Amino acid sequence: MKIFYENDTCVFELDKERILDRLRHYAQEHNVQNAKEILSLLERFSNSIHLTSEEHQYIEYIVLESIEEGEVSALCKVCQKAYHAEELVPFELGYGKSPFSGKTRLQDIFSRKPKMPKTFGGKGYKCPRGHELISRIIWIA
Ligand SMILES: [Zn+2]
Repeated sequence: MKIFYENDTCVFELDKERILDRLRHYAQEHNVQNAKEILSLLERFSNSIHLTSEEHQYIEYIVLESIEEGEVSALCKVCQKAYHAEELVPFELGYGKSPFSGKTRLQDIFSRKPKMPKTFGGKGYKCPRGHELISRIIWIA
């Protein structure tokens, strides 16, 4: 089964079982409320499911992680062409991936209390022809 996640420029295709495993990890081991909510939604459907960016912004973090793991294919709506995760071109937002060395973890972002951003960073991916497919702020300091 698949999960299709669609935004303005791209349709991402993800393996449903892998995504469920990832969400269960965040929901159970790190008590991430966003993960619990989308997990309960996904578990109601036994088939493939189509999500859009307006409904489920949290899934974008999961998509970004899945691209890093090479577990996604992406249909660029501008090119009208599907690409594998390894073909996508990463780019940085703001101050980049992390204020420190190492990888910012999802559970750190979602356990943080919201406050006004002073500096921020994030990342995204473009297709090989330069169309921006996805981007998220992943840390705020
Ligand atoms: Zn493209």
